Amino acid sequence: MNDRTPLIAGNWKMHKTSPEAVETASELVKLVADTTDVDIMIAPVFTALKPVSEVVRNSRVGLGAQNLYWEKEGAFTGEISADMLVSAGCQYVIIGHSERRQFFGETDQTVNKRIRAAIDAKLIPVFCVGESESERDADQTFSVLDKQVKKGLEGYRADELGTLVIAYEPVWAIGTGKTATREQAQEAHQFIRSLVDSAFGTDLANAVRILYGGSVKPDNVAQLMQMPDIDGALVGGASLNAESFSRIVKFK
Ligand code: PEP
Repeated sequence: MNDRTPLIAGNWKMHKTSPEAVETASELVKLVADTTDVDIMIAPVFTALKPVSEVVRNSRVGLGAQNLYWEKEGAFTGEISADMLVSAGCQYVIIGHSERRQFFGETDQTVNKRIRAAIDAKLIPVFCVGESESERDADQTFSVLDKQVKKGLEGYRADELGTLVIAYEPVWAIGTGKTATREQAQEAHQFIRSLVDSAFGTDLANAVRILYGGSVKPDNVAQLMQMPDIDGALVGGASLNAESFSRIVKFK
């Protein structure tokens, strides 16, 4: 047994206007009001952060953003800083999601800088890693994870990473309906934890929460959560509906 509190996080991606986000968040707040043993986070689009923060204040639901830029301010059209997210009510930020790596040129180096900005602003970074289907087929899963984790966390000290959350999201399982088996996920999570152990020591390795992401649904979450190194889920599609997301939150 470990004493890591599970985290169930919803990534709403580019879905929901502000009124729609407020409506879903309000419903969710009511549905999860009686949960006590799990942390919950939702990440709406930037424009919905402030109104949703008012809905989730004093509730079980935490607020996250889907990205941030590492500079504090300046001539960076279209970007948003960590302090701006904090002032909008965020406690979490997703960093290095595979869609950002795939469509928006995110690299291990830019992920590293974003994690720094998040930590400096006391935001909890949800640092995403994961292999593509062709990398898995070529038996490169571990080497890809090794590179992403080491480069993403290069230059950090263990005492800076106390709140770090890592999300293992095999790219082939995101939005595809194909979930990694719980054995595949456990193997990857155990490997990621061992990387944290070698780089930062056993205390951090035991404390870091590693979420699984990739087509998590109400009917497959419980079996994933039984695995010793799976500490929660990062959920895309099934987080858009408050009722289905609340069933994932109440996986026990
Ligand atoms: C995600 O976007 O991080 C994700 C895991 O999506 P889905 O649950 O839809 O596969």
